[in-house]
Amino acid sequence: MSNQLDTTNDAMAESCERCGRETPHNVAVELKTESKTGNNVAYSREPYRISTCHVCGAERSIRMNNA
Ligand SMILES: [Zn+2]
Repeated sequence: MSNQLDTTNDAMAESCERCGRETPHNVAVELKTESKTGNNVAYSREPYRISTCHVCGAERSIRMNNA
């Protein structure tokens, strides 16, 4: 389950590993629910920043809280 918090259609220039250069990206922020199996199910919802390359379609998600 994921809740989309915010979506911007403004393309942002970011470096894409697959393209090997800066390309326009679509950036969205998403809450992802991570389930850690093994223990009792502990869900933590982490905000991720999803950037999608306009050129090759590569998706990169970066966890936002570094706490
Ligand atoms: Zn790319």
